[in-house]
Amino acid sequence: MSNDQIDAILEQVLARNPGEDEFHQAVREVFDSLPRVLAKRPEYTEASILQRLCEPERQIIFRVPWVDDNGRVQINRGFRVQFNSALGPYKGGLRFHPTVMLGTVKFLGFEQIFKNALTGMPIGGGKGGSDFDPKGKSDGEIMRFCQSFMTELSQHLGEYTDVPAGDIGVGGREIGYLFGQYKRMTNAYESGVLTGKGLTWGGSLVRTEATGYGTVFFARRMLELAGRSLDGAKVLVSGSGNVAIYAAEKVKEFGGLVVGASDSAGSIYDPEGIDLDLLRDIKERRRDRISAYADERLGAQYRDGRRVWSVADETPIDVALPCATQNEISESDAKSLLNGGVTAVAEGANMPTTPEAVRLFRDAGVLFAPGKAANAGGVATSALEMQQNASRDSWSFEYTEQRLSDIMDGIHERCAETAEEYGTPGDYVLGANIAGFTRVADAMLALGVI
Ligand code: GLU
Repeated sequence: MSNDQIDAILEQVLARNPGEDEFHQAVREVFDSLPRVLAKRPEYTEASILQRLCEPERQIIFRVPWVDDNGRVQINRGFRVQFNSALGPYKGGLRFHPTVMLGTVKFLGFEQIFKNALTGMPIGGGKGGSDFDPKGKSDGEIMRFCQSFMTELSQHLGEYTDVPAGDIGVGGREIGYLFGQYKRMTNAYESGVLTGKGLTWGGSLVRTEATGYGTVFFARRMLELAGRSLDGAKVLVSGSGNVAIYAAEKVKEFGGLVVGASDSAGSIYDPEGIDLDLLRDIKERRRDRISAYADERLGAQYRDGRRVWSVADETPIDVALPCATQNEISESDAKSLLNGGVTAVAEGANMPTTPEAVRLFRDAGVLFAPGKAANAGGVATSALEMQQNASRDSWSFEYTEQRLSDIMDGIHERCAETAEEYGTPGDYVLGANIAGFTRVADAMLALGVI
């Protein structure tokens, strides 16, 4: 297929999905990596693989009515995009955030197809969520919302059909309420229908830590291959949810110093290294703002309304781990990081780096690990949770973490080898996109026109 033909398909996809900017961004980014593989494999073109990949197998949009603490009826919108099941049941998280719309869920679902393929495990791609804002809601409100959401969604799930998990705004508490309602509606203890469950009722050790740990395992390999290491590295992590916190924990274990973190209101800079016990206490137990950290920790600064990357304007930084949300590294943030001397970026979040910033990093020769490779440890450990559920077993922390580490090494190897095979060694974006794409595309070819 020529570049013109690829562009024509891209234009069709964009025109068919108007107003879905984030989905457009995710599709463009994958298409940019494909000319060489499409030239080599005409069978993909003959079978219209690109066009089929961009059209979700099923999209469900539903009303979620619930009653707030004042007795008033509230309405939110629920989504589940079942994008591609060539490799296994749809798998991907649920995001509860006021900005969630169909285009958000489609971008995340699209990324998830390739991410899940890269793990080498038997999982398809899907994503869901709601524009419900969990911030400031009582526990009872969260429960009633989750129950209403699952009342509809339960009709579309199953351990062989679609297996959601958490994402932004959906953690262990929400998965519990969702699972409880699913169990009640089906009268079946179908553990494998959701992942991220609590440890006493079918969850897996390491699942909570997996995305953050996995991102750092990937970064470690990437640095190693370039003859560098995390030992002694100065690191910025954005966010303060479970991806950021456990990424920071692993960086520390590997000898790095995490000097910055953030939440949606602002960021903190702690030159001595972030005290993770204090940060966890503030974010996980108290569910407070990150500004509380600077109030309690001597020498730490809070920067209201500023992203954590601005720290690189003041002090040298070696590694950046964006672990908050999409498009959180703008072109000017990338300039700050480059001025600070950053040499590696690994995405713990989904699509956190804008295309302009990715270009700057790549031009500057920064090692850049895209989210669909670097943050795949979360969904991979979800697949390990499904394995434990299917065999009614539960594995030790050490064993599960070793499996995660091996999976991340495997993903790294797949990306690095593919980049090399296609003549651009060290280009993890190209490596991840092509390796993920070919695995799904080959399965789609094998399954016929479906
Ligand atoms: N939401 C996570 C992701 O972006 C995890 C999905 C899962 O475990 O199914 O990959």
